[in-house]
Amino acid sequence: MDALKDIEKPYAEAERIAPLVRRVLARNPSPFTFTGTQTYVVGDADEVAVIDPGPADPEHVEAILEAVGEARVVAICCTHTHRDHSPAAAPLKVLTGAPIVGCAALTLEDDGPRADAAFDPDYRPDRVLTDGEAISGTGWTLEAVATPGHTSNHVCFALRETGAVFTGDHVMGWSTSVVSPPDGDMTDYLASLQKLYEREQDTVYFPAHGPAVEKPRQLVRGMIGHRRQRERQILKQIEAGHRTVAAMVPQMYRSVDQRLWPAAGRSVLAHLLDLQRRRLVTDHGDEWSLLAPDN
Ligand SMILES: [Zn+2]
Repeated sequence: MDALKDIEKPYAEAERIAPLVRRVLARNPSPFTFTGTQTYVVGDADEVAVIDPGPADPEHVEAILEAVGEARVVAICCTHTHRDHSPAAAPLKVLTGAPIVGCAALTLEDDGPRADAAFDPDYRPDRVLTDGEAISGTGWTLEAVATPGHTSNHVCFALRETGAVFTGDHVMGWSTSVVSPPDGDMTDYLASLQKLYEREQDTVYFPAHGPAVEKPRQLVRGMIGHRRQRERQILKQIEAGHRTVAAMVPQMYRSVDQRLWPAAGRSVLAHLLDLQRRRLVTDHGDEWSLLAPDN
């Protein structure tokens, strides 16, 4: 984590970052979470929402409560149910009486192999927001924007009053999202990027990890281009005889921290499954080959 050494990490403190928006950083830094999970408190008056409460770490929950102060928590909103995002929803609900609202549950029990150990199996929403549904409090309205891909249950929340969007792990400025099959789906992920790109009203993204994104559509366009480039790289790898994910990753991610290679391998697999759906490649067990365009 040397790259993080010089970055300011204001753990357990509420910071004002925009009109209606305060941020509280959880102390869970890692190669996957950057400086940690950022919980957002939305609203400046008597009612607030808490977005991505984060890990159930008592210090973090305490800091969120301090940021909330005397206000009433109207909703605890989760973008998705990875363990660094939703576990603090349960203790916050107990402490504030607020309902858990937002993404659907995806648990080990309910979904078998689609969920894995990275998911929070205890997440129980009181209300699931479908695409376009909104909740509101004094001075703010949050609209759910369904963005499956990173996980099948991922939603972003758009703050109508300012054009800010809380993008969870769907779009982050510091890193591309991990898309890990079977729950992660590259076809869905690319469609969800396109969906954000078409939202011309959005002014800034507040991701769950890393700094705010000030030119959101420009970043999303770049990300779509980056994924298309990865796709072409994968097709070239197959052509060059690197037919398994294990053979492709060291070639494609030479400059990347090796601790991230397993996750990179999951993204390569996600691309291959997308290419397979588009009938550009086919698999023989772990080995992949190109399909001629006229097949
Ligand atoms: Zn995640």
